[in-house]
Amino acid sequence: MTVTSTEIPQRRELKTALPGPKSQELAARRSSVVAGGVSSTLPVYVARAGGGVVEDVDGNTLIDLGSGIAVTTVGNSAPRVVDQVTDQVADFTHTCFMISPYEEYVAVAEKLAELTPGDHAKKSALFNSGAEAVENAVKIARYATGRQAVVAVDHAYHGRTNLTMALTAKAMPYKKGFGPFASDIYRVPTSYPFRDPEGMTGEQAAQRAITMAEKAVGADQIAAFIMEPIQGEGGFIVPAPGFLAAIADWCKANGIVFIADEVQSGFARTGEWFAVDHEGVVPDLVTTAKGIAGGLPLAAVTGRAELMDAVHPGGLGGTYGGNPVACAAALGAIDTMEQDGLLGRAAEIERVATVKLRELQAKTPAIGDIRGRGGMLAIEIVKPGTKEPDAELTAAVAKRCHEQGVIILTCGTFGNVIRLLPPLVISDELLLEGLDVLGEAFAALG
Ligand SMILES: *Cc1c(COP(=O)(O)O)cnc(C)c1O
Repeated sequence: MTVTSTEIPQRRELKTALPGPKSQELAARRSSVVAGGVSSTLPVYVARAGGGVVEDVDGNTLIDLGSGIAVTTVGNSAPRVVDQVTDQVADFTHTCFMISPYEEYVAVAEKLAELTPGDHAKKSALFNSGAEAVENAVKIARYATGRQAVVAVDHAYHGRTNLTMALTAKAMPYKKGFGPFASDIYRVPTSYPFRDPEGMTGEQAAQRAITMAEKAVGADQIAAFIMEPIQGEGGFIVPAPGFLAAIADWCKANGIVFIADEVQSGFARTGEWFAVDHEGVVPDLVTTAKGIAGGLPLAAVTGRAELMDAVHPGGLGGTYGGNPVACAAALGAIDTMEQDGLLGRAAEIERVATVKLRELQAKTPAIGDIRGRGGMLAIEIVKPGTKEPDAELTAAVAKRCHEQGVIILTCGTFGNVIRLLPPLVISDELLLEGLDVLGEAFAALG
């Protein structure tokens, strides 16, 4: 292939109805060989993607406001990622870091130590997926503390493996029928400003969670408290100011490992390297994945050296964890974030999009809340005049955007949140055009 993805025309252009004939052919092939439990939001088969667009096999170009769920933060096939991956894939593809190690893994761990919150000594272990990182963070916390209980919060999403299903709050589609789940997991309320009692502060919400954890488990039994600093699948919930700090302080006072699951919110997405940075909170362990490697599968647990070193040699790892090609991609992606000022770009996207979203909210009674940070923004949809979730309208709005060639994702425990996760390299023009299409969908349906 000679054309690089960044040369894809940066415009929305529909040549067929969606899905087009070639996508429909692929869908027919798929239906006889791909498991039905694996679903797709928008059955449009991709040919190439870059910048702010995805081009399908019928030659349609769609505006990407999803980044493959917050993964292609630097854009698809970002030039530095392509260069690093191309060089690495030609040198060697795999030796297994647990057999014969290589520099790329070490270099990624150095970047993680530099960029994650806090100036203490930090170490990392690399894995393949967000769920695997979360599983390992819990392993490390249990080993280091000698305790077993883990506390998670309402609306949490931590993955689809057995332990991470147990940590995840929502039954459909993530848990139903897949039990029994891992034991010794306890759930406490989080801070959800739109749905909490009027005027509840972050400190008060934290006290509510702490009281529940102390009564239901006992602080001295708890190995770890895990939460997403901005919740992803659960509805892009931004806790009230002070909540994260109060939880972190309580963890510290009680020898509990505070794990920030930054798999979705990390790596420039919110306008800081990590979402906890907005609150000045320093977690003991941070889990990362999604945006870390420009689309290649890589994940990490990074944290206090004494915690990370507690586990015996051989206790952590995996065949593919920290694969050299994925590490090379991460170095290219992180370099892109640094060189191209993508933290600032995320903040700019927030400013540009928020103006538009507030205008839309003013004329749309079904929009109950606009929230989020940087390139991680959301609209919560309700029955007008109430806070009753309207999942039906949410699905209809998303569907209409899809038909118009705008990739928009939904989320939320109640299925009533539209989330915006554009690649940070999207142009303002495409971003605003995508939001116009969203506005037209509300006007037509709401
Ligand atoms: C996506 C996600 C995970 C799971 O990551 P996978 O790579 O899908 O295993 C875990 N935590 C959060 C916050 C996520 O958004």
